[in-house]
Amino acid sequence: MNILVINSGSSSLKFQVINMANEEILAKGLVERIGIEGSRLKFEPADKEKIVIDQDIPSHKEAIELVLKTLVDEKHGILSSLDEITAIGHRVLHGGEKYSESIVVDEDVKKVIRDCFVLGPLHNPANLLGIEACEELMPGKKNVAVFDTAFHQTMDPVNYMYALPYEYYEKYRVRRYGFHGTSHKYVSKRAAEILGKDKPNLIICHLGNGSSLSAVKEGKCIDTSMGLTPLEGLVMGTRCGDIDPAIIPFIGEKENLSYQDIDTMMNKKSGVLGISGVSSDFRDLETAAEEGNERARLALDMFVTRVIKYIGAYMTEFDSIDGICFTAGVGENSIEMRQQIAEGLKIFGVKIDEERNNVRGKDTIVSADDSTIKLLVVPTNEELMIAKDTVELTK
Ligand code: AMP
Repeated sequence: MNILVINSGSSSLKFQVINMANEEILAKGLVERIGIEGSRLKFEPADKEKIVIDQDIPSHKEAIELVLKTLVDEKHGILSSLDEITAIGHRVLHGGEKYSESIVVDEDVKKVIRDCFVLGPLHNPANLLGIEACEELMPGKKNVAVFDTAFHQTMDPVNYMYALPYEYYEKYRVRRYGFHGTSHKYVSKRAAEILGKDKPNLIICHLGNGSSLSAVKEGKCIDTSMGLTPLEGLVMGTRCGDIDPAIIPFIGEKENLSYQDIDTMMNKKSGVLGISGVSSDFRDLETAAEEGNERARLALDMFVTRVIKYIGAYMTEFDSIDGICFTAGVGENSIEMRQQIAEGLKIFGVKIDEERNNVRGKDTIVSADDSTIKLLVVPTNEELMIAKDTVELTK
């Protein structure tokens, strides 16, 4: 059973074909610059040479058409016909309050994705374009929508409501939704396997360019750090995370900025990039800090401190905790960030083992034997999670 996984962005489209019999990736790739001059397909078949196809790709439909053509290409392809694709799983950013699980796409599902355009204005329209292109190009095959928000829909109102006039929730559904849900779900399931416990209590730290934490009680999300949009919560690569909201009118007035300008500044020019002025990439920051760059050190310290504060707050939502998991680019790879986060948790009896922590991108328990809570590195795999949900819903 081969599943095509599609992550369709506004001008790019990532894909993987996964053989679900052994979870092997048969091919993966990326279409870049859709609708922009210089578009191309980067195609990586598992057992053949990588290729790059430069050609005009004016729309998402043409992008998927080219991917499908390449998948069955005699020389470079990995399938003899598209019949070998059983179903398609799509990453969709926002499912609003409607979906707490993945779902087979029909007209009602597409309407909800459309209704959520205002909540995910950059991603949802592109996600829907990807779905519609697949419907047109592979009629009869099932498409499954896997929402980034779905895993967090189990939160209680006490954690998802903002203390604003209630009418804004009623009129516009202004509330916390949370994102990276597919990653949090995958990591919580994998951690359950590693810990040998059916439904453990976990704090999941998805630390990458975008970062979010979730508190997962007996398999269900009870709290998460991103909000109405992915801007809230931790200090991120280029996003500011939590700030005093009064800063928005203050800076707006001083700098004569529109709401749109401020939104762009908080999403693209802030975070560790804004503080350091060096980079949003944690490898660059670690190097700069080692060389004595004080603003790079401050940015990293602020990142670590915010993670520690959130973990500390989430601890209070449990009677006991089985594990704290680190995932995504920084969580999986940065030995230094994990070490410092663990240091900040010693009040809880958390202890990292330096030797075990000397690991990158591998499922590993990195806590010391006498740590009160296990620390785990669990590489995330959102594509596999999407493919698993797709199999589950279409078998
Ligand atoms: P992601 O958004 O999950 O792809 O994560 C991207 C972030 O992971 C970037 O800021 C990278 O600098 C960071 N990253 C990847 N590898 C390492 C590493 N070995 N050490 C520190 N940070 C890393």
